[in-house]
Amino acid sequence: MVHLAKVHHEADQNDALAKRIDTIKLDDVDNEDHFSATVYGTRFATQQLPQHEMPDKEMPREVAYRMIKDELSLDGNPMLNLASFVTTYMEDEVEKLMTESFSKNFIDYEEYPRSAEIQNRCVNMIARLFNAPTATDDHHPMGTSTIGSSEAIMLGTLAMKRRWQNKRKAEGKDYSRPNMIMNSAVQVCWEKAARYFDIEERYVYCTEDRYVIDPKQAVDLIDENTIGICAIMGTTYTGEYEDVKAINDLLVERGIDCPIHVDAASGGFVAPFINPNLMWDFRLEKVVSINVSGHKYGLVYPGVGWVVWRSHEYLPQDLIFNINYLGAEQASFTLNFSKGASQVIGQYYQMIRLGKRGFRAIMVNITMVADYLAEELEKMGFIIMSQRRGHGLPVVAFRLPPSNERHFDEFAIAHQLRERGWIVPAYTMAPNSNGLKLMRVVVREDFSMSRCDTLITDVKLAMKTLEDMDQTMLDKYTEHVRTHATNSHKAKHNHPHFKGEKHSLQGKTGKTHGVC
Ligand SMILES: *Cc1c(COP(=O)(O)O)cnc(C)c1O
Repeated sequence: MVHLAKVHHEADQNDALAKRIDTIKLDDVDNEDHFSATVYGTRFATQQLPQHEMPDKEMPREVAYRMIKDELSLDGNPMLNLASFVTTYMEDEVEKLMTESFSKNFIDYEEYPRSAEIQNRCVNMIARLFNAPTATDDHHPMGTSTIGSSEAIMLGTLAMKRRWQNKRKAEGKDYSRPNMIMNSAVQVCWEKAARYFDIEERYVYCTEDRYVIDPKQAVDLIDENTIGICAIMGTTYTGEYEDVKAINDLLVERGIDCPIHVDAASGGFVAPFINPNLMWDFRLEKVVSINVSGHKYGLVYPGVGWVVWRSHEYLPQDLIFNINYLGAEQASFTLNFSKGASQVIGQYYQMIRLGKRGFRAIMVNITMVADYLAEELEKMGFIIMSQRRGHGLPVVAFRLPPSNERHFDEFAIAHQLRERGWIVPAYTMAPNSNGLKLMRVVVREDFSMSRCDTLITDVKLAMKTLEDMDQTMLDKYTEHVRTHATNSHKAKHNHPHFKGEKHSLQGKTGKTHGVC
């Protein structure tokens, strides 16, 4: 590690400390507070919490704790947040284990060799779950932990781009205009990867009744500058699995040398247990890399992700840094250096604690709850857009049937539910699907049947409230929903300077990015 050199000043002489103390007015110390009351009896309870400038003086720890905790109580309740795929429940034992590891920096392999070993075990287990080929003298499957699927996808993209560039260079061909093929329903991190690494995005657009990639259209878009195709195992909008096998088979049939990266952020820990015969992973020869979010159905709190390559040949050597860190050589391929070790340790706990049977039990349960919810919503007249019986993720995507009589939309229902504490988002579908609106419930481990029943009751109530509103009332209400502060475009925390960007799919088409 490089240490920045110290800049010396004259004041840094031996007696500097004494001099400095001279410059402080010691009688300025405030001895008025005795903190015998509860935190609400201190002067802090009558003051704004500091917002812009670091305060001059300390505050007692119990005051700081209580005041921040109170402020956070206005956040949504994670248990009622049905918008997110990200884990909101872990057992006490693993929480303890993770808390005990907070002070470990994962990257310090030399100091924390067992944490590094635990990551390697996780990579092995995940690679096998995805049916990575066994290592031979020429092929070594490889993988690493990341902060989440976004970093994993950035790494996967970089590897595909560099491999393509190296091949083009070796052939003496132009390597300045790489492109990548994906569905327009991709998660925003793919748009970021393309933009940050100067890769042209080639979209296969959704239609009014197809929300997954069309394998033939995808393969037809390939040219000599294509670095790879992204296939999603569980789109964020409807949770549907894209047909990776169809893409693979078309590539094989046409003899096209183009790799597939599977974005299995959510599906990577679902499909192997619910749908083990579905061919989407390394069993398909064109699949070269797969990412998965440990913090989604991998059942770990955020942020941990994983990326696995079928063989070291897909991970160009010139992207890898061998870090000789405090005496130990470690091959490293990450965007970030330091990160906590807790999440990796949490992942290992979940995998050995639950085993395949434990994972299957949870995934079967939530698939059944999702099917039940879909059925009940259908009875209420909603159109179900997601798959059932384990053919997709355990999410329920639904929308209102077309009607000329109804004057409210999915966004109004979402808002009504929010008033009961439920976070059920409404979206505008990916471009070319005619501005289709939908709502989505992500069924996570802790969404049990009785909670599902409460939600169903509340959806019925929300519908009734909206139906009972007359037109004027509804107009006012719609206006209120539109200008409500939690609406992401209107949120105060969006910096005015960066409002209204035009480069993304959201900026260009009005697609709203799903919460993940
Ligand atoms: C969640 C998600 C991502 C991003 O993953 P993070 O782990 O949140 O970085 C990418 N792709 C898909 C399909 C997702 O569902």
